Amino acid sequence: MGRVTLIGALVLALAGCMETKETTPAAAVVSSQNIPAAMRGKPAKQLFGSHAKASAQAPAPHGGYARGCLAGAVQLPETGPTWQAMRLSRNRNWGHPKAVDFVQDLSRFAATQPGWNGLYVGDISQPRGGPMLSGHSSHQMGLDIDIWLKPATDLTLSRTARENISSVSMQRSDGAYTNSQWTRAHHEIVKAAASDPRTARIFIFAGAKAQMCRDETGDRTWLRKVRPWWGHHYHFHVRLNCPDGTRGCEAQDAPPPGDGCAEADQWVRNILNPPPPDPNAPKPRPKRDLTMHDLPQQCVAVLQSQ
Ligand SMILES: [Zn+2]
Repeated sequence: MGRVTLIGALVLALAGCMETKETTPAAAVVSSQNIPAAMRGKPAKQLFGSHAKASAQAPAPHGGYARGCLAGAVQLPETGPTWQAMRLSRNRNWGHPKAVDFVQDLSRFAATQPGWNGLYVGDISQPRGGPMLSGHSSHQMGLDIDIWLKPATDLTLSRTARENISSVSMQRSDGAYTNSQWTRAHHEIVKAAASDPRTARIFIFAGAKAQMCRDETGDRTWLRKVRPWWGHHYHFHVRLNCPDGTRGCEAQDAPPPGDGCAEADQWVRNILNPPPPDPNAPKPRPKRDLTMHDLPQQCVAVLQSQ
C-alpha cells in the first residue's frame, strides 16, 4: 500500500515545478499552415534548446508557465553584488526583465539576513524560454525562478565551482519537516518573496510551509502564496505574475483564500501516513513532448527572430 502514491509522487517530483492548472492548453493553438516545415512535428524542446541567445524583440511572455515562450529575454548577470547564477553551462539565467529585476531586489534583501550575503540563483529560463530538454515542465515564459536554499556566503565562486557545488536539503522525514539547516533567515527570505506584489506563488516542500505557518506570529496574509509542492527542498521556486500590460500571458488562478496552513498540515499527514491509493484514479497518461502546435503562434516568431 502506498506504493502507487509514492510512484505518483516521484513522477510529480520529476516533472519539476508544475501544478495541474498549468497544463491546460494555451487558448491559441496554431494551425499547421502557420508553422514552418522545419518546425513541424519536432519536439519544441529541441527547437528552443538550440538557441544560445535571446530573440531580438521587445520583451513579452507568450502562453502559459508550462506551455509558452519568451520574446526579448534579458540575461541575469552571472555575478552581482548580492547574487551568483549557478550551473552556468545550462544557460538558463535568462528571463523577462521583470524577473531579473525581482531576483536582484530579493537578493539585496537576502544580504541583510544573518549568514547570507545574497542568493544563489538556479534556473530561470532558456534564452527564448520554451520547453527544456531536461528538468522542468514550467519555467517557459521567463517568469519562474529557482532560488537555492543554501545560504549564499561566498559570491566569488568560479564557473567550475558553480557547476559542482550542491545546494543543501532543508527537509527531514521525506519533506514532512524541516531539518536543522532551516533558519529564521529562510523564513524571512521566503516571506519577502511572497509579500512582493510581483509574485503569484512560491513553491516549497510541505514541511517548510507548515513550519512557517507555526513560526509566523504577525501578519499571515503572505502565507497564502506559499504553496506546498513535491521536491523543492534544495531550492524554492518563485512564480511571478504576468507583468502589467502583457497580452497573451496566461495567469494562473489565484491560490485559494486563506493562509493555506490547514492544507499544508494535511499534506504533511499524507507524507507521514500515506492514504491508500484510490482504485478509481485514472492512470496517469504518459507525457507527450510539446510541439509548436501546442504553443502560441507568437512562439514561431520568437524562434525565427535574429
Ligand atoms: Zn522551479
